[in-house]
Amino acid sequence: MALKALDIYKLLPKKNCKECGDPTCLTFAMKLAAGKADVDLCPYLDTNAKSVLGATTRPPIKLVKLGVGERSFGIGEEFVLYRHDKTFYHPPGIMFKIKDTQSEEEIMAVTARVRDETLTRVGTDLKFNGVVIVNTSGTVEAYTKAVAAVEKTAGLPEILVSDNPAALTAALSLCGSYHPTLCAATPENFRQMCALAKQHSCRLVIRAPSLEALAQLAKDCVSEGVTNLLLDPAPQTLGDFINRSTAIRQLAITRAVPDLGYPVYLDATGFPDEDAAIALGIVKYASVIVTSPLSLASAKAALTLRQNIYTDPQKPIQMNPGLYKVGTPGKDAPVLMTVNFSLTYFTLQGYIESSRIPCFMLIVDTEGLSVLTSVAAGKLNETLVRDAIKKFGVENEVSHRKLIIPGYSAPLSGRIEEATGWKVLVGPRDAAEIGDYLHEQWKP
Ligand code: SF4
Repeated sequence: MALKALDIYKLLPKKNCKECGDPTCLTFAMKLAAGKADVDLCPYLDTNAKSVLGATTRPPIKLVKLGVGERSFGIGEEFVLYRHDKTFYHPPGIMFKIKDTQSEEEIMAVTARVRDETLTRVGTDLKFNGVVIVNTSGTVEAYTKAVAAVEKTAGLPEILVSDNPAALTAALSLCGSYHPTLCAATPENFRQMCALAKQHSCRLVIRAPSLEALAQLAKDCVSEGVTNLLLDPAPQTLGDFINRSTAIRQLAITRAVPDLGYPVYLDATGFPDEDAAIALGIVKYASVIVTSPLSLASAKAALTLRQNIYTDPQKPIQMNPGLYKVGTPGKDAPVLMTVNFSLTYFTLQGYIESSRIPCFMLIVDTEGLSVLTSVAAGKLNETLVRDAIKKFGVENEVSHRKLIIPGYSAPLSGRIEEATGWKVLVGPRDAAEIGDYLHEQWKP
């Protein structure tokens, strides 16, 4: 990386003028080498240097924004093949398919569901991302009615799917200002599709059955002036999808085939096992996944998997340390201490709520590590607990001096008692048992 930064530095104007926001050209070069700055920030670069540097320092997969307004979302701009090498940045949009052969009521109901449905997990609201309107009827009239029903219901990111340019043109007259995504340009129709996409600043899904043809098509669309592309590798089977999507990611991030440096599109509804297709799409590099309106179980599975895969593996999701109330705890309510790993917090909180015993939760800062890991690593210790009790004023909230600690931190019980002066009660190892424990054991 040092060499690369030095190579970049050689191409910079070396004025050290700070206009790029960096104190020197060298620090700017180092940022460029790490992919953390854009060459356009330096106004003194000549066109040739800019194009050389742009090709090597810009993200290998283009960031493409779908939709406008608060529900818009970005896809692409990924750098690695394996999540543990760094992280995955932009979760795939999961978009529900609507057919123009459905009734207006059905179309509005699916759209409203995407607009409103939220799954809250570990403190984060998870939502679906938009709708994909398919011209199944083949007619302009049915298609415009379907698009109008969607527009009437919500301002969501949309993908318009049709082989009929007249149907797309009519639909764009209704929703063109929202810059929907058009699907799909092929080697046969790309000029016509590009003209439409350019006219309405649309994103464009391009489809070809081989990677060579897809790369050529991307190049052709860029020459036509359309640069916000999504790649549909037209898989016939799930095996096809894994092979082609993995190859696209590999060729893009190594910059071996820069023309494949765009997000991947997957229509999961075309496979016999749609749930499997969705799961593969999430783990194997799809950036837009088209699904039928999912059952509650499938929806939860998809949203949960997506959240897990797109969480930075080096940064556990953390709670802010503090004293949290569950219900309306009084002066004699139990105080349960635990770590600030979000999953631990929300799991325990859920079980406490079910127990219907109002409690205080004292969350200590273990930098997001779980109980077992933080005890093993020495992060969870008596000093941390003593300081947290003082810092968050626990003594002012309750009249007793009893602290319930997680079962896996039992080896620390004596030291915590000594450091805090509080009587330590060792709770269960499994959060699911906290309700029974409190009902049977808690006496202020
Ligand atoms: Fe150097 Fe360009 Fe930054 Fe000025 S704007 S410090 S010339 S890199």
